[in-house]
Amino acid sequence: MAITRQLFGNLSDGREADLFRLTNSSGMLVDVANYGGTITSIKVPDRNGKLDDVVLGYRTIEDYVQNPRYLGCVVGRHANRLANGKFSLNGTQYRLAQNNGPNHLHGGTKGFDKKLWSAALVTGDDPANLQLNYISEDGEEGYPGELNVTVSYSLSNANELRIDYRAITDRDTIVNLTNHSYFNLAGSGDILSHELTLNAGAFTPVTKLLIPTGEIRSVANTPFDFREPTMIGSRILEPDEQLAFTGGYDHNFVLNDWNNELRWCAIVKDSSSGRVMEVSTTAPGLQFYSGNFLDGTLVGRAGKPYEKHAGLCLETQHFPDTPNHPNFPSTILRAGQEYVHSTVFRFSVVR
Ligand code: BGC
Repeated sequence: MAITRQLFGNLSDGREADLFRLTNSSGMLVDVANYGGTITSIKVPDRNGKLDDVVLGYRTIEDYVQNPRYLGCVVGRHANRLANGKFSLNGTQYRLAQNNGPNHLHGGTKGFDKKLWSAALVTGDDPANLQLNYISEDGEEGYPGELNVTVSYSLSNANELRIDYRAITDRDTIVNLTNHSYFNLAGSGDILSHELTLNAGAFTPVTKLLIPTGEIRSVANTPFDFREPTMIGSRILEPDEQLAFTGGYDHNFVLNDWNNELRWCAIVKDSSSGRVMEVSTTAPGLQFYSGNFLDGTLVGRAGKPYEKHAGLCLETQHFPDTPNHPNFPSTILRAGQEYVHSTVFRFSVVR
């Protein structure tokens, strides 16, 4: 059996949340909860074959119901921030929940991370596949249109975790979905000594409130240049206005040569364990977030607090605040069209 299902726990209204475990022939395993479509665990071998969890996670369903930092979940309907919780579409202005200062963040007060998804399809072949479905009603969190969303998680025997997102709407709307896993390839400590390479020649600078200014800025001669493998911690404390606004990296990178096809966007290496993660995506952007807001108040599954930089997110997506920037690739989904987005996380080791 490459996929199992067990009870994760009961929500306060009595509904049952399940935990699905995908395993492959190399011993890698991925746990996904249908609450929030959340990846709660990814265990991969290090260079000596030792399994460790490479994503941050909690122990209980109650922790995931709180989950203020969005560990592991699907974020939507529109990932990241929308300035002042507003956008216009077809001449109508829509107002969304302002759940991050004046801004809308990660879908609002009850985004896709706080929904119980239904398991639409479960297969145990190579790849083991789980499909979760959620129907977001017209007007939910202020968004127009009923959106029918399916997120599929597949684990192959080649240690690839693939996430496919699909959505259709009955009225024009905006959609930008991603997964919010925090990775730490060492399994503990912080990510500052991880080495990162990004397939991005530009990034989108932000204001103090972390809203893109609209500028597309070259990474050349900035601490945002990850075109060659670079230790995350090597420039994070440099005096740079952008790093100061966000307390570390929390920026959207503009991926090179975007054409809707799957191509590499990031490689992360941890020399202590030998673990390597290569990320490929069909999306035009990648939010690289170095876990700056983790401050020791969240306690992880090992009973230890998650301190600043305990994990890093690589959120493959369209750019934050896109509906308010006509120069960014559009996140409008028209009635009758299908939103499709895929991301692959491939794990391996170096000796
Ligand atoms: C954002 C951060 C935010 C975090 C939520 C990231 O996607 O870029 O600014 O704080 O999600 O914990």
